[in-house]
Amino acid sequence: MYFIANWKMNPVSLKEAKNLLKNIKTRISKVNKSKIAKIIVCPPAIYLPKLATKNKLLDYGVQNIAWIQQGAITGEISILMAKEFAIKYCIVGHSERKQFLCESDRYINEKIKLCLKNNIIPIFCIGENLEQKESGQTGKVLKEQIFQGLQNVDQRQVKKIIIAYEPVWAISSQQNSQPSNPDSVLEATIIIKKALLNLYGRETSGQIPIIYGGSVNKDNVLDYIGGNIEGFLIGSASLNAYDFISIIEKSLIKLIQGDK
Ligand code: PEP
Repeated sequence: MYFIANWKMNPVSLKEAKNLLKNIKTRISKVNKSKIAKIIVCPPAIYLPKLATKNKLLDYGVQNIAWIQQGAITGEISILMAKEFAIKYCIVGHSERKQFLCESDRYINEKIKLCLKNNIIPIFCIGENLEQKESGQTGKVLKEQIFQGLQNVDQRQVKKIIIAYEPVWAISSQQNSQPSNPDSVLEATIIIKKALLNLYGRETSGQIPIIYGGSVNKDNVLDYIGGNIEGFLIGSASLNAYDFISIIEKSLIKLIQGDK
């Protein structure tokens, strides 16, 4: 089960970032003795040299990379630069990048392919916005995002991708955001599974994990456990070590109890 912390543009000082990471690490060893949880922290890239060192407790990811490996792209970060540090994952196509930086499906597809070429696991974010949801287009939007994002990604490569279903309207940074109803999350994951099945067949599509993100916190996480969800992408609640670890702890307890 994946627990992926997306710190976004936080915290605003290295000192606080180090502190947050230290508090997360201290608590992880107690809750993840079984090693069932794959814990991934995605800090702002500028902190990577000071934070991302190999360790047995957690892995690191970047929140974005440029769509090409090298070149004159002011302000962007190359995947080769990220790979200088202990990076295993990269968030691709986050809705905030689509909304504020006009990131398109074409660039998302290039980034996914670049990650795969460089052995970095893409955390491919998809999800409908409020307007699309209200006009009944969720299924169509999800299928289209999957189809566009995975252009020229073959059967072997696609197994390395994590799909993050994040309904845009449920992300805490959105005005009037609201956590989604677990039934609608289940419905969306069924649509995603079917789309992957049509593209890659049963055996391959069954190996692609789907995680959920959107205002997940320690009080509502258990509502989303089960169904097709194999983990969480967590924004604001990951900025508090206690909350982040509680999400992991509660999920693992429920999973372990469910296995008995
Ligand atoms: C996100 O932005 O990926 C996210 C899930 O944020 P939050 O948990 O704050 O809604």
